[in-house]
Amino acid sequence: MKISVGHLYPKQLNLYGDLGNIITLKKRCEWRDIEFDYCEINLGEDIPESDLYFIGGGQDKEQIDVSKAMYLQKDFLLSQRDKGAVFLGICGGYQLFGHYYQPFEGEKLLGVSLLDAYTVAGKKRFIGNVTAKSDFLTPDTIVGFENHSGLTYLQNETKPLAFVTVGNGNNGKDKTEGARYKNVFGTYLHGSLLPKNPLLADYLITLALEKKYQDKIVLKKLNDEIEYSAHNSVVGKAY
Ligand code: GLN
Repeated sequence: MKISVGHLYPKQLNLYGDLGNIITLKKRCEWRDIEFDYCEINLGEDIPESDLYFIGGGQDKEQIDVSKAMYLQKDFLLSQRDKGAVFLGICGGYQLFGHYYQPFEGEKLLGVSLLDAYTVAGKKRFIGNVTAKSDFLTPDTIVGFENHSGLTYLQNETKPLAFVTVGNGNNGKDKTEGARYKNVFGTYLHGSLLPKNPLLADYLITLALEKKYQDKIVLKKLNDEIEYSAHNSVVGKAY
């Protein structure tokens, strides 16, 4: 088997080891003899058809160019979403998966509306480890590290990825963390996210393969002892 992975704007958006998410996806595919066909998409380039897209986080000023470039390909991305492609957006990238991000100063940055969500800058910066619980994973705990001032609000069919037990998540008020609509996932969790959450990594790989092969996929089990010691070391810790 094989999956194609498009990494959106890695030069602009790559914070707190976001690239670790790509390495995790790649290794977990290779360990199972699944071919990993990876490409980077840079500013001004056409986005190719992929089974899974990834975008990392970054600062407001880096989001400006990405917002402009990605907005031009909004219709293509929406059609990919509706065909079942998997998307994972972290923090600044997640914000641009919604309708817009309004920074504290300056113009609204338009997003591609893969998620029915919007983000406005708040006065406070949320920094620290996060523990959250998701209803589609067993065990259900997701861990990561957040650093953002944007406050994200979800609407209609876009549901939370998880609910925070430690940390702030989307907006520090409603306990929600991240978002999901169809196979589009967004989260504030850097850290990196997937190395510490192997179950979530496998969930995304499975969805991408199921989209591609239009069949039920059951992945071979791996030995995740090291991954779980990293995961467990931050469960319940705020900083
Ligand atoms: N501009 C965003 C914020 O501070 C994104 C930060 C990030 O990606 N870590 O809200």
